[in-house]
Amino acid sequence: MRKTSMIFVPILIIAIFISGCSPQAAPATQNEDGLTVSVSILPQKYLVERIGGDRVSVNVMVGPGDSPHDYEPKPSQMTSLSESDVYFSIGVEFEDAWMDRISSANSEMLIVDLTQEINLIPMQAHHHHDEADHEDHDHEEEHADEDHADEDSDHAENLDPHIWLSPANGAVMAEKITETLSAIDPDHTATYQNNLDALLADISQLQEETRTALADLDTRLFIVFHPAWGYFAQEFDLQQIPVEVAGNEPSASELAELIGEAQEENISVIFAQPEFSTRSAEYIASELNGKVVLISPLAEDWLENLRAVSKTFAEEL
Ligand code: ZN
Repeated sequence: MRKTSMIFVPILIIAIFISGCSPQAAPATQNEDGLTVSVSILPQKYLVERIGGDRVSVNVMVGPGDSPHDYEPKPSQMTSLSESDVYFSIGVEFEDAWMDRISSANSEMLIVDLTQEINLIPMQAHHHHDEADHEDHDHEEEHADEDHADEDSDHAENLDPHIWLSPANGAVMAEKITETLSAIDPDHTATYQNNLDALLADISQLQEETRTALADLDTRLFIVFHPAWGYFAQEFDLQQIPVEVAGNEPSASELAELIGEAQEENISVIFAQPEFSTRSAEYIASELNGKVVLISPLAEDWLENLRAVSKTFAEEL
């Protein structure tokens, strides 16, 4: 009696386990359990979740604190790619080296390039702001050439990859994400469209707030260690002055030049980001009797982060 019941119980457990698993083991046709979406950086996760809601689960390659410039995927992330329905690439640097491997990890995964809908602008080179000075213009071109020639340098193609850092570009990417999710999951098109409408309304509100907040600044120039804010600057008529030169720490003479320029323009705040060393930013700030203010290009809550950044600019400029 005892023996048979001892055998019977494990069999029962196994039977329950098998039946519990079988729906997932069946061929994963048309998204019964929603979509799995992979993205490169955290702000994309925000956009995809705003559009997809609880229909999507999002796998992010470059996690908190990682830099998209020198990031390498972990083996576990390559594995989760094999479960993804779609990958939204955004043109950050690690994709150059990894996109082939990412796409071969899952031949059924759709790859959508979010940069396609965006007007890419040149990466900001270090330069002076005295437009009448032709020597300075040559100086700028010289740096652009260096940047192009140096394969190890940041942004070798010389186009600014930080496309997600303007509300206008966020809206364009949100439209593309909506179109893509609707195409692979047509039963939920109405949901995606409603979510898009709500997000676009939030973005319009942010744009209006930002334009108002930045309408009356003492200066429209700002110094930033890594020049990630070109698209933001373009949208709101600001001008960023990078500390980095072609992706590298500036030389002593370049630092001195920048400090002179900041003094001329009466600038005392240096912006930096948590992902990079702030040493040279702090050096410049101390020379100017100013301060370093951190702003993050990679925070997950994309909308609130841009709102916080525009408030910071309004306070500090
Ligand atoms: Zn960057």
